[in-house]
Amino acid sequence: MEQSDPTPVQTPATTGNRLTIDLGALARNWQALAAQAGTAETAAAVKGNAYGIGAEPAARALSRAGCRTFFVALPEEGFQVRAVAPEATIYVLNGLASGVAAAHEAGNIRPVIGSLDELREWSAYRAAGGQGQAALHVDTGMNRLGVTFAEALELASDRGLTERLGLTLVMSHLACGDTPAHPLNARQLATMQDVRALFPGLPVSLANTAGIALGHDYHFNLVRPGIGLYGGPYIEGEPPLETVVTAEARIIQIRDVPAGETVGYGAAQTLTRACRIAILSTGYADGYHRSAGATDGHPGASVVLHGHRAPLVGRISMDLMAIDVTDIPAARRGDWVELFGPNMPVAEVATAARTISYELLTSLGGRYARHYRGAL
Ligand SMILES: *Cc1c(COP(=O)(O)O)cnc(C)c1O
Repeated sequence: MEQSDPTPVQTPATTGNRLTIDLGALARNWQALAAQAGTAETAAAVKGNAYGIGAEPAARALSRAGCRTFFVALPEEGFQVRAVAPEATIYVLNGLASGVAAAHEAGNIRPVIGSLDELREWSAYRAAGGQGQAALHVDTGMNRLGVTFAEALELASDRGLTERLGLTLVMSHLACGDTPAHPLNARQLATMQDVRALFPGLPVSLANTAGIALGHDYHFNLVRPGIGLYGGPYIEGEPPLETVVTAEARIIQIRDVPAGETVGYGAAQTLTRACRIAILSTGYADGYHRSAGATDGHPGASVVLHGHRAPLVGRISMDLMAIDVTDIPAARRGDWVELFGPNMPVAEVATAARTISYELLTSLGGRYARHYRGAL
């Protein structure tokens, strides 16, 4: 641990906001996706601190649910998961960074080789006696990571490659899985079927959460859901699985503001009626995106308290934001207000902030008191 790591917040009473993370729901979501994936193995993407919920508790809960393979972005994330999942297979999606092949083997994590440069370095490491294993990423249309199909074709002409490099998986990634009708899905699938034929005997993986919903053809041997596990939406217009994350903030004070006054920085919103304004102890430093705020003519996100929605008023500050509780007379100082969770879909807040659920979840800051429900 680095010294700059924030001290974990222990109690909601001494902070302004709290997160409730339902590990039981996480496990059930994994089981639901595993059922959809049929005979394919269901892994889990736990990069980005398991989409903000905590890599260690998430990996532990998923292991208990039966998950045996994890995907992270970085070796450091892989070491974290390894500490709580001693038997699991762990792949590092961002590929092989220069000079760390041996560190992968020592930590028992597998790089996902994503370019010929990485492949050459891994090959030299293996030729020198390295025993680590790896996946090969073949690009099928994302143009982000992965060797090209032409490169894969040439690599595959070397029949001893799989064994020499210790390859255990060949994978690719969908660019538009959340939009089932997008023509790129079918093109990537067709290319992946060709890739499979190039590497007979090697397990194949293409699907993220959205890819699971695209159907059996997309499942191959292993699927890699992320967002669906964490209760985020993964197909345009379809409801997500169970809610895993509930984010709440406390009301610090309630004030009466006359019509015609403005609220917050920049006087961005003028009240058209006299309002009761509640000030919440959370802001963009907690990962509640500033772009979800309200200005004249542009409503922002809403929160939920006492079973009612309350709209944000004005700009979001670093540590504070304002909501209109005029129509919620029960609102009191000290009340907890739901920012997102079972009553306020994270996707709706993300849309108000002109972003996606992934970004809201991974932005969750270090000042929340985190409470885990379900087996730890
Ligand atoms: C993040 C990621 C996943 C998981 O994607 P979701 O859309 O969250 O299900 C799977 N594969 C790769 C390569 C990824 O980067």
